[in-house]
Amino acid sequence: MAEDRVSATCSECGSETFSLPNNPPHDDDVVTCAGCGTVVGKYGDIQKALMDAGKAEVSKIISNTFGKFGK
Ligand SMILES: [Zn+2]
Repeated sequence: MAEDRVSATCSECGSETFSLPNNPPHDDDVVTCAGCGTVVGKYGDIQKALMDAGKAEVSKIISNTFGKFGK
């Protein structure tokens, strides 16, 4: 089976924390890794992918993934 799931781990450094430019975030905000600054993707796309992965867990996943917001 294809792995088209969005990983909540940075592919570059393995960090599980990501930064957003705005709080609250906008759908077209670019999400970057808090560890190394790698661009992960757009917040809206990632949020949708996480929701598809499991709506019941989404708030917990988002809380863990976007624990740090950029300033
Ligand atoms: Zn990283």
